[in-house]
Formats: sequence, structure tokens, C-alpha cells
Amino acid sequence: MDKIKMTTPIVEMDGDEMTRVLWQKIKDILIYPYIDLKSEYYDLGLENRNKTDDQVTVDSAEATKKYGVAVKCATITPNAARMDEYNLKQMWKSPNGTIRAILDGTVFRSPILVKGITPYIPTWKKPICIARHAYGDVYKNTEMVVKAGSKAELCVTKPDGTEERSTIFDFKTDGIIQGMHNLDKSISSFARSCFNYALDQKLDVWFATKDTISKKYDHRFKDLFAEIFENEYKEKFEQAGITYFYTLIDDAVARVIRSEGGYMWACKNYDGDVMSDMIATAFGSLAMMTSVLVSPDGVYEYEAAHGTVQRHYYKYLKGEETSTNSVATLFAWTGALRKRGELDNLPELMNFADKLEKATIDTIEDGIMTGDLYAISTLENKKKVNSEDFLLAINEHLAASLA
Ligand code: NAD
Repeated sequence: MDKIKMTTPIVEMDGDEMTRVLWQKIKDILIYPYIDLKSEYYDLGLENRNKTDDQVTVDSAEATKKYGVAVKCATITPNAARMDEYNLKQMWKSPNGTIRAILDGTVFRSPILVKGITPYIPTWKKPICIARHAYGDVYKNTEMVVKAGSKAELCVTKPDGTEERSTIFDFKTDGIIQGMHNLDKSISSFARSCFNYALDQKLDVWFATKDTISKKYDHRFKDLFAEIFENEYKEKFEQAGITYFYTLIDDAVARVIRSEGGYMWACKNYDGDVMSDMIATAFGSLAMMTSVLVSPDGVYEYEAAHGTVQRHYYKYLKGEETSTNSVATLFAWTGALRKRGELDNLPELMNFADKLEKATIDTIEDGIMTGDLYAISTLENKKKVNSEDFLLAINEHLAASLA
């Protein structure tokens, strides 16, 4: 069989620990035999980030802007323990944070559903895609502990030097205060990313804030979403047969639980942080989530939603057998290959991505799975296999479906 040809390279961002091991195995077993892979390789492993003073992370994000599609392996975000372990020059920042700041994107996460792993919410039949705004609010706040007898004020110094003041609270007893911000530009790109991704995936969009309480801050989110939808997306949504729906966050939570899934839930930064873990857990596992960063100008970076699975890596280094779930990393590859196929008009590449995803799901539904799924699957014929045998089993399905 001739290998599938590509025309534009995918930006490949390699990573760390167990996911780095899986990365190579996925390419060797499931990609190289079928695709004449064109990729521009960036080694974001911590050793190389340290060696290049983290320039490699910036370069990989710039290359993503240039080519439009990247696939990223999980990477270590260094802490004090990693400083010693890797003998680092500096406590380098989270690569995801650096890449997000350069691409200015929104992160979309959707669970991968398989038979035998039942959501904890029995009504959920279809995936719920969470879109998380990844800028500002409580993540870029200023806080103070305040003593009794203090008066706290919000003060803005305008460009002409005049001040606008408003009392936050007159403290008769000890307390706390917090200041935070967001930007019209960031909220607008969040809205556009959500609407573009929804059109791409043919999903209804739900958005919710607490605008009845936060009459200026949250209301600004509501207004910008409504304005952008009216002016730029209303007709496109009608043509695609999808809808945009705004409600209060408490109403949204109640509706989500009663729903059968199958829509995008756009969340402010904090809501998205909390709700994406709830959605992932309720659907089964972080290793069964897809995750993609989409920038407002249509740049896509696919990744796994989990970390580097450090504990398994130390077992691997000791020569012990591991049973690590490669599904999220594999779906990062299929997402990137499909998108490349779409942009370059390569139906064969898109078809390959579909078949590889189906082969993965069929393997698990046949009862062959890694330890994390084995622990929660209700299939009677389930069998736990090691990291490599899982990929080999997927390859059997894939080879059969491509033959
Ligand atoms: P982790 O996601 O690696 O592991 C959390 C727990 O989930 C562990 O019990 C692990 O065994 C389990 N788990 C996660 N993925 C699994 C898989 N594919 N198969 C089987 N079990 C799986 O997160 P952590 O332990 O908090 O962090 C480890 C490292 O990953 C840290 O250095 C952290 O900085 C990094 N990290 C990277 C990313 C990213 O690059 N996107 C995200 C989170 C954490």
C-alpha cells in the first residue's frame, strides 16, 4: 500500500516522561507505516527547553502561527523538585501558558465516549464540549488582607489623569478584598473562537455568566457575545442549523445535568477550570478527553488534556511494565492530521484520521484496554494490556479497516 502523502508540515511539539515514550510508539506503530509524515519537529522536552533557554517553546508557537496546525505532547511545568531533577537554569514557565499567550486562544475539551464506560450522569448520551476562556479574571487578580477600620476603594486613573473612585467596603472588622480585570479584545476573541469552533463541529453554543449580580463585569461578557453573534455569526449559524443560547450560570448548570449532551458550553475562565474537571470525571477519565487550542484567526493546536503520567514513567525507567492510556495523545494526532487534511484538501488524510479514531474505540469496545479504563469498564470480556500491546491491538483494527 502506498503511504498517504502530505503537502504542508504539521508542527510537532514533543514532550516529557511517559507521554514522550507513548509519542514515539504512536508514530512508530500507527503513523509512519501509513503516512509519509511531514512534520516540523520541536523538542519541548524539559532538557531541551533548558538548553535553549525556552526559546524552543516560542519558536514552536511561531511555527504554529505560520503553518496553522500543531500537535503537542504533554510537558513538565517545572517546580522546585524539577529544578534539582533536571538541573535547571531557571524555573521555566508552563509551555502551555507561553503558547497560549502567543496564539491568543480558547481551549476546547470534549470527552471521548466508549461502550462500557458509562457517564455518572445517566442522561448524558453525547459529549459536552467545554470551551474555557483562558485569560484574566481571578487568574490575574490582586488581593489584600484588610484590617478593621480600613476603607477599600476601587480607583481608576484615566489617560487624562483624572480619577474615578468607588467604595468597595468600609471595614468595621478584619476582612479581605480582591481586584481583577478582563479585556474587550480577549473576550471578543473568546467569543469568535467559540462561534468558529461551533460552526466547524456543528454544535449549538451555550454561554452563561452571573450578569444579574455582576451588572458591569459579567454583563460586558454577555453584551460582547450577543453583539458579535448578531453582526458576524447569526446567518452562518442559521445556515448550519445550529443555535446560540445565553442564560444565567446557575440555570446553565441545572440544564447541563438534565440534558443529553451534544453542545458546546462556553465558560468564563474560573467556570471552565472547575467545570471541565467535573465533565471529564463524570464522563470517565482525563485520558479520554480531546483538547484543542483554537485561535481567533484559525490556528489549531491539538494536545492531550492530561499531564506526563510521571508515576508510570518512573516504573518504565526501572524496566517495569506500564499500562498507560494513549487515547488522548492519539486523538491529538488524529485531530491534527484531519485538520491538515481539511486545510490542504487531502481526503485520504482525513479518512485515515477517522479510521484511526474508530480503530481505537473499537479496540476498547472489544474489551482490550489499559489499566485506568479496566478499573471502570463494565464490559464482561475486558482485558488489561500494557502500553505497547494496546497500540498493537489498535493497529490490527486499523490495518483491517484500511485493507
Ligand atoms: P497527570 O495527568 O500526569 O496525572 C494525574 C493522575 O492521572 C495520575 O494518577 C496518573 O497516573 C493519571 N493519569 C493521567 N493520564 C493518564 C493516562 N494517560 N493513563 C493512565 N493514567 C493517567 O498529572 P500530574 O501527575 O499532576 O502531573 C505530572 C506532570 O505533568 C507534571 O510535571 C505537570 O507539570 C505536567 N502536566 C502537564 C500538562 C500538559 O502538558 N498539558 C497538564 C497537566 C500536568
